[in-house]
Amino acid sequence: MTSTLQKLQTYLKEIDRNDKKGNEINAFLQLNPNAIQEAKEIDAKIQRLSQVRSASSKLGQSKGKLAGKIIAVKANINVQGLNASCASKTLEDYKSTYDADVIKKIKEEDGLIIGITNMDEFAAGGSGETSAFRPTKNPRNLDLIPGGSSSGSAAAVAAEFCDMALGSDTGGSVRNPASHCGVVGIKPTYSSVSRYGLIDLSMSLDQIGVFGKNVSDAALLLSIIRGKNENDSIMQDGWKMDLNAAEKIPKNITLGILDFSVDEKIQKIIDEKIMKAKEKYRWKIKKIKLNYLDLAIETYYPLVYVEFFSGTRKFDGRKYGKKIEDTAGEEVLRRILGGSEISRAEYHGRYYHKALQVKKLIEEEFKKIFKNVDCIICPTVPKLPHKIGEKISVEDMYNYDALTIPSNLAGNCAISIPAGEISGIPVGIQVICDNFAEEKMLKIANAFEKL
Ligand code: GLN
Repeated sequence: MTSTLQKLQTYLKEIDRNDKKGNEINAFLQLNPNAIQEAKEIDAKIQRLSQVRSASSKLGQSKGKLAGKIIAVKANINVQGLNASCASKTLEDYKSTYDADVIKKIKEEDGLIIGITNMDEFAAGGSGETSAFRPTKNPRNLDLIPGGSSSGSAAAVAAEFCDMALGSDTGGSVRNPASHCGVVGIKPTYSSVSRYGLIDLSMSLDQIGVFGKNVSDAALLLSIIRGKNENDSIMQDGWKMDLNAAEKIPKNITLGILDFSVDEKIQKIIDEKIMKAKEKYRWKIKKIKLNYLDLAIETYYPLVYVEFFSGTRKFDGRKYGKKIEDTAGEEVLRRILGGSEISRAEYHGRYYHKALQVKKLIEEEFKKIFKNVDCIICPTVPKLPHKIGEKISVEDMYNYDALTIPSNLAGNCAISIPAGEISGIPVGIQVICDNFAEEKMLKIANAFEKL
């Protein structure tokens, strides 16, 4: 069996060849300088435990569930000693002083952190281009954006730089780049994974999520990072997710098919998958309509602007890094300015408060839909990725997330899995399930993956 160290070295070679020199993908901002040492320690532990297997099992010791897995981490999640820069000049010198809860859990299960990945600055973006350092390129076509904001994490998994990766998803930042790069990405139910140690974009929408090369890898990482933690006060417990059960093809499933106009070629790929699933598994399909779907983007941005503005007040140049207004890029400044304007005008409860009301309506509409269907199936992203550097309007940029934002507003879990390609560009299919229905979502996703 390949050791953790051997595997790490293969990945590091690949990174050296394709991430830094010549045709660089720019997935990583920083590699873990202690990775080799940590890999050796994990291998030594695995060996020690296997030599004394019977004795150690009596003592309840076994190797961790992530032993041998190499994991990349988005630059807005704290890993002690590494640089959680959020791909911003504001935090370029900020060294994390502690491990986020998710990182603690990964380390406890013997997972190895290989490095910190590139992203849109402060997770405000959907293309990977707003990184203050350099844009990430799509490993499947270096001229194209990889999607964002977790651009480097998706690219690192797609480019064979690691086994799995962590990202964060406020409005699609895990699923969108997963779709464009041809990997699996999961946004878990809001409040199911601790956000302690995440530098969030929007506190009422953000959720740490995972990337994998297939559904089962992504599910494994999710199973480790999920679960209640007292450092995150909104967390909910008491829901189960059995990985073995998630491997089984479910019966009697009704797929909810969303009525929404997207790129025709993308729709064709999704339709073919749905028809195959219907034939092979004898699943039912039901057309559904979400009345508030068109309001999702308009509802999302006021919430994000205000919460981001408020969250960034701590970056005043005194405690963490530099003053954000002096250092950040255009998209970040747009949101800070917008957020401060909305907050000022909020006196009459006009914008933020209204957006919260619509969020509630969207939540209720989804709840109702999930009484009639097991999941909603739709494309992850309604259009194909643009060329890096191509000028597109702010509206067009925001529209990339038209089909991912709704599940952040409703809190649902959702997954993107590769569904096909258009001229070599990957297209993802999205499975959205009710809050805490991760196990069912994984079953359906596994079944789609097997088609
Ligand atoms: N692209 C969306 C935005 O710009 C989503 C970002 C995210 O999920 N972090 O806000």
